[in-house]
Amino acid sequence: MKIIIDAGHGGSDVGALGQFSCEKDITLKLAKVVGFLLRHLGYEVRLTRDDDYLPIWAERVESNKDDIFISIHCNGAPNPSVQGIETFYYKGSEKGEALARAIQGSLIDATKEVDRSVKSSDNLYVLRRTKCPAVLVEIGFITNEYEEKMLNSSDYQLKLALAIVKGIRDRGLKK
Ligand SMILES: [Zn+2]
Repeated sequence: MKIIIDAGHGGSDVGALGQFSCEKDITLKLAKVVGFLLRHLGYEVRLTRDDDYLPIWAERVESNKDDIFISIHCNGAPNPSVQGIETFYYKGSEKGEALARAIQGSLIDATKEVDRSVKSSDNLYVLRRTKCPAVLVEIGFITNEYEEKMLNSSDYQLKLALAIVKGIRDRGLKK
C-alpha cells in the first residue's frame, strides 16, 4: 500500500487567491509535511508534485487499488466571511467515505474550525480517476482573512498535517 499525497494545483495553475498568498503554495507545503510524517511512520508515500509545477493529469491520479489518495486544497469564496473545513469522497465509495469521515473528524478535533462536513462528489477529477479510496480535503478558505493567516503559519500547518495523518491511521474505525 502506498499513500499518495496530492498538492492541489501548481505551476501556472495557482488555485484560489488570498490577500497575500495563493493556494498552490500552501497545498505544496502541507503535502510535504504530511509526506514527511507518513514516511517517518514507515508508510510508502508518493507526492504528486514536490515543487511548483503542474503535473500531467494522468500521472497525478496514477494509483493501484490498495493505495490511498489524499488531495489537498484550499477553498475560496466570493464572500470573505465564509470559513471552515470540508472533505470530499467519490460518491458510492464506502472506503472513500470512511477515510473522508476519519480525516474530517480528526481535522475538526485538532483545529476546532467550522465543520463544513463530509460531502460526496462524482465530478472531481482526482476522485473519479483514481483506482483507490480517494478524498479531497479543503483545509480552509484562503479568501477568509483569519484562515489565510492560519494556513500560512507553520504551526497551524503542522497541526493540520498531524490531523490528516491521524485520520489516515484511524480510517474506517469511527463512523
Ligand atoms: Zn484547489
